Amino acid sequence: MGQPEITIIGGGVVGLSVALGLLQAGHRVRVLDGADSDARASQGNFGLVWGQGKGWDFAPYANWTVDALAAWPAFSKTLKELSGLDVALDQSGGFEFFTDQREMDEFSAMLNTQQAHVGERFSHEVLDGDDLRSQMSGIGPNVVGATFSRMDGHVNPLRFLRALRVAVTKLGGQITSDAHVAKIAAHQQGGFDLTLTNDDKLGADKVLLCAGLGAMTLASDLGFRTKIRPQRGELLITEKLGERLPFISSTVRQVDEGGVQIGGTKADAGMDDSETLDVMAGLARHAVDVFPALASVRVIRAWGALRVMSPDGYPVYAQSTQHPGAYLITCHSGVTLASMHASRLVDWIDETSSAPNLEPFDEHRFAL
Ligand SMILES: Cc1cc2nc3c(=O)[nH]c(=O)nc-3n(C[C@H](O)[C@H](O)[C@H](O)COP(=O)(O)OP(=O)(O)OC[C@H]3O[C@@H](n4cnc5c(N)ncnc54)[C@H](O)[C@@H]3O)c2cc1C
Repeated sequence: MGQPEITIIGGGVVGLSVALGLLQAGHRVRVLDGADSDARASQGNFGLVWGQGKGWDFAPYANWTVDALAAWPAFSKTLKELSGLDVALDQSGGFEFFTDQREMDEFSAMLNTQQAHVGERFSHEVLDGDDLRSQMSGIGPNVVGATFSRMDGHVNPLRFLRALRVAVTKLGGQITSDAHVAKIAAHQQGGFDLTLTNDDKLGADKVLLCAGLGAMTLASDLGFRTKIRPQRGELLITEKLGERLPFISSTVRQVDEGGVQIGGTKADAGMDDSETLDVMAGLARHAVDVFPALASVRVIRAWGALRVMSPDGYPVYAQSTQHPGAYLITCHSGVTLASMHASRLVDWIDETSSAPNLEPFDEHRFAL
């Protein structure tokens, strides 16, 4: 294989999903991935494939998310065929549980707006606490109600990341670990020089910056001005349970291996990804409010991880105006959107006749 025509910086779920799609479209692709010391959202996330609330105030994102949900079954099938790994996709529908009526009313109003953006492709129901308890045993008395959407679900997040790595390698993609890019210089006549932290130098025809929070330092080398920021989330996981929980929710869900993951917190804590006792206690209380039987289950692990946030929280898909051939690809919900990143986003990069209009996701939307 000659020099790969496309170099992707970042081997998290975003970089690897795009790599997979590009390889399937016939490109030669190299992925340069950093080190374990990097913040890596793909190794600490909740594994939701989720639509509720997404893009209620930004129609293009609402539609892109619904497209992603619809594409996930075929995407997980392809991953299985290529990697031999079943990512345990379960899209049997997901709940958002509420213990505060006002919060539930506000969220329901957001879902109505989201519904207006996407029409019949998205549907949701609102259930009051008594309805919910009559349909599902074990829901706690403090739950005032829930919203439900039938397209929501989850995967096993670490197996998903592994499946992507295996699939990309299987299709001939080169993934290099401990290849931390320190600097990128753009040639005036096109093409890029990449300098790694160990001083190795590499040439690239096209560069896709998919480095998560690593883009905070590299984006300006390519003429991008988007300010990426971290947002900490904390999670708990319990011992494995013999029985299945009767629901998937955005804050309490059972991994296919049996443990119950509890999460959903958001905090601005800079690059500090440590977990905190008061937040962990709040998570445990919430889980027990939702499903009181969890009170007797042991928590075996807690961790914090940093989300990759753009200024408005929505994805950025941008080609550099200063340096054509350089792209910034970053988003928060990289698991959910992976099915789009491996397909439609590639049409956009390739500028095929069926390329989606991703102009609304350009960084021009920010007041830079
Ligand atoms: C607590 C939490 C819960 C979440 N839950 C969900 C969820 O349920 N569903 C969902 O869809 N999304 C969820 N997310 C978001 C999702 O995890 C992210 O959108 C996704 O992981 C981002 O992937 P990424 O590849 O952009 O970034 P990362 O996973 O951070 O990967 C970036 C990669 O780039 C590499 N890198 C960085 N700098 C350089 C450099 N200079 N040179 C070379 N390589 C570099 C790093 O080593 C890393 O491997 C969650 C995130 C968090 C933190």
